[in-house]
Amino acid sequence: MKTHDVLVAGAGAAGLVAALAAAERGARVLLLDSGQPSTFATSGGLFSAPGTRWQREAGIEDSPDLFIQDVRAKNGDTVPDLLLRTVAEGAAATAEFIDGPAGVKLHLHTTTNWPGHAVKRLHATAGESGAEFNTLLRDALARFSTITFEDGAEVTALLPGITGATFTRDGATHHAEAGATILATGGYGGAPDLLARFAPPARHAVHAGGAGSTGFGVRVAAELGAEMQCMDAYQGQPHVSPHLIGTVRPRYGASLPALGSVMVNREGRRFCAEDMGPSEMTGVLLSQPGGRAMEIWDEHAQQAAQAGGPFRRAVELGAMRRFETVAAIAAHFSLPEAVLAETLAHAVACAKGEATDPFGRRNWKAPIAAPFHAAEITGALAHTQGGARVDQAARVLRPDGTAIPRLFAAGGVACGISGTGTAGYIPGNGLAQSFVLGFLAGRAAAGA
Ligand SMILES: Cc1cc2nc3c(=O)[nH]c(=O)nc-3n(C[C@H](O)[C@H](O)[C@H](O)COP(=O)(O)OP(=O)(O)OC[C@H]3O[C@@H](n4cnc5c(N)ncnc54)[C@H](O)[C@@H]3O)c2cc1C
Repeated sequence: MKTHDVLVAGAGAAGLVAALAAAERGARVLLLDSGQPSTFATSGGLFSAPGTRWQREAGIEDSPDLFIQDVRAKNGDTVPDLLLRTVAEGAAATAEFIDGPAGVKLHLHTTTNWPGHAVKRLHATAGESGAEFNTLLRDALARFSTITFEDGAEVTALLPGITGATFTRDGATHHAEAGATILATGGYGGAPDLLARFAPPARHAVHAGGAGSTGFGVRVAAELGAEMQCMDAYQGQPHVSPHLIGTVRPRYGASLPALGSVMVNREGRRFCAEDMGPSEMTGVLLSQPGGRAMEIWDEHAQQAAQAGGPFRRAVELGAMRRFETVAAIAAHFSLPEAVLAETLAHAVACAKGEATDPFGRRNWKAPIAAPFHAAEITGALAHTQGGARVDQAARVLRPDGTAIPRLFAAGGVACGISGTGTAGYIPGNGLAQSFVLGFLAGRAAAGA
């Protein structure tokens, strides 16, 4: 008799939900995590879910079909159809599971209209941060007596026939047998060899994801014969500091443009429509002199952005500065003052509808006004979006469409819903795929 019904490798976004969903179905679960920081814990903690009860309560009409339409509008037909429909149709039930049996309370995020979404459909925990969400889901493991969680246990290989795994802990090697295995070890944002092979443009960007994203599960799935899809896809993050404060790299959060921020390069000039999708903005930002820019916002945005956990953390770290005048901004960042003044005056005119923006920005929120806040930013690689092809139960599939027995994948190990390249990512869709596939994998593996 096997010791465990289900082995989950990785306790990030996908693995935590997978373990909880399997346990809720009565399975004996072994959850193993290397102890390296997850990308989930560094994330904004906002996830897309169309057609939820929180949306209905807010009077928002949404559906899986509308979500699919938004994703298709962003990245064409490059997202596998079955995967997209699976995530779209599974998201509301997954959110109910997280809020209900898992006991992690959710709400609808209403501060920002995120680019790419026709309606407000991002959900979060109270503090709207991945760090908080991660802690709450980890705490939820204790509600299920059939889950054994080994933190600091690095899976090094699967047992022959996918009958469990080998892992190391405190220098010793262990073997664990299980009826089914869920690979949930994240993407390959921290694996230079895989980036060089599959996503060369992301190779030189700062990696803002968790150090645990070494591509372990992606390599294992490929070796076992999985079809790998959209391997050049990744999520970019443009509102990231190029500087570490201690060991922390501050992030200002992608809500700033929707709150009216303006971005200028080292020449003091704007270079893009700030309301474009944050993922594709990353490449535009990296193509500016030095691969950096200055983001400038006002007091209203400063207050509103504090709804987001990463922004609050950046405030705590003192990562941004307050300026009373444009001249003070120019002096601090060594920008040409006259050019910056002209740039901001033109932005104000655009926001008032008195001038036309050459970059085509549509959402200005309000004309930016003193006092200002500003920070230097760069483009970062957040999380890779390519991975193993899976079916509607998150079973890993071979190129001929047959399932590899007893093997499931979710999150960064599986193909995402961003299509190819970096332009297809829509905010909230990394966690949406991770949670939904984790939920479906957990349930299916429990019955395998
Ligand atoms: C700055 C930033 C902000 C983001 N904000 C958002 C957001 O607001 N909304 C959104 O939808 N997405 C966001 N994302 C993306 C989102 O966080 C990822 O899509 C998601 O975390 C992927 O989940 P995962 O479970 O696949 O990987 P992870 O969350 O990284 O979890 C994988 C876990 O597996 C562990 N592991 C790795 N290898 C092994 C091994 N061999 N053995 C055992 N354990 C192992 C890792 O240490 C880690 O704990 C953001 C990403 C970044 C970087």
